[in-house]
Amino acid sequence: MGKILERYPVHRLTTLHIGGPARFFAEAKSAEELQSLIQQAARSGISHCIIGRGSNLLVSDDGYSGMLLRLEPKRWGGIEQVDDRLVVDASVTLGCFCAFCAREGIGGFEFLCGIPGSMGGAVLMNAGAHGKNVGDSVESVRFLHKSGAIISDVHPQFSYRHCHLDGLDVLLSVVLRVEEFSTPLDEIYRRQRELRQWRSDHQPGGPSAGSIFRNPSGHSAGKLIDDAGLKGCTIGGAQISPVHGNFIVNRGNATCKDVLALIELARETVRQKFSIELQLEVHYLGPNGFEII
Ligand SMILES: Cc1cc2nc3c(=O)[nH]c(=O)nc-3n(C[C@H](O)[C@H](O)[C@H](O)COP(=O)(O)OP(=O)(O)OC[C@H]3O[C@@H](n4cnc5c(N)ncnc54)[C@H](O)[C@@H]3O)c2cc1C
Repeated sequence: MGKILERYPVHRLTTLHIGGPARFFAEAKSAEELQSLIQQAARSGISHCIIGRGSNLLVSDDGYSGMLLRLEPKRWGGIEQVDDRLVVDASVTLGCFCAFCAREGIGGFEFLCGIPGSMGGAVLMNAGAHGKNVGDSVESVRFLHKSGAIISDVHPQFSYRHCHLDGLDVLLSVVLRVEEFSTPLDEIYRRQRELRQWRSDHQPGGPSAGSIFRNPSGHSAGKLIDDAGLKGCTIGGAQISPVHGNFIVNRGNATCKDVLALIELARETVRQKFSIELQLEVHYLGPNGFEII
């Protein structure tokens, strides 16, 4: 079993590079190892939380007081083609998944290109771009239920950046429907290159967690923040990106407190100017676990 590390600095696990220490952190190589770690935490009266590649997370400066768990990333071994389906381990990064698709001539998933998460995080968030969402291709999932049982062949419901799965503790793998087999490799590479270029033209580089807010119905959160005159606004080491109003970037020494202050500023200004409530898309991990803020 992988080592259980104490007081692990969570900023190393997030793309924003923010977050205090987790009391314990461990990576599991298998579902069995995960079950055993969770049982160990429960026996000691410690809570646990699962994260993926930390690309949609804002973590408190005080860290997390329980056991933080992650699935150890698998590469090609985590993707299996069965007829017109792909069985993908939750730990596979989207970068690896897109490279696999390009290598095997599997088209239709280019929209995931450039999203820096894991397949588990992408399914949980119903990640999407350019009018496509991963949930549209999900046939079924296999997951660890809160009761400790592993449940297979479940068909989740998806909505905007959300996956509805009763009793979910940890997503283990997903079966995806493939609609485009034998796509010429050049064509896939061309589409992937175009989408990567689009990202570098429209989104900031540097540490961020992608879009901070969900798009309110009929509106773009980025445009509302831009129209409110907040682009470039800085608190401490955090900045509302001058490139994209819905991105908060860490300019080197940002704290969670700085990011929360910018979130509050954006919410308050947009509320006053446009009477619209902004809701977080990023998930906030506080000292006692995930919280809705
Ligand atoms: C530069 C940048 C660009 C981005 N662009 C996009 C975009 O275009 N579209 C988009 O939708 N998102 C985008 N994102 C956000 C993010 O990449 C996605 O939401 C991604 O799918 C999150 O995956 P993750 O593995 O990093 O999850 P994490 O951030 O680690 O976790 C997110 C949530 O998923 C849960 N979770 C993760 N893995 C599991 C699992 N195995 N079982 C159960 N729960 C799990 C966590 O508990 C948490 O609640 C972007 C982020 C960045 C930094």
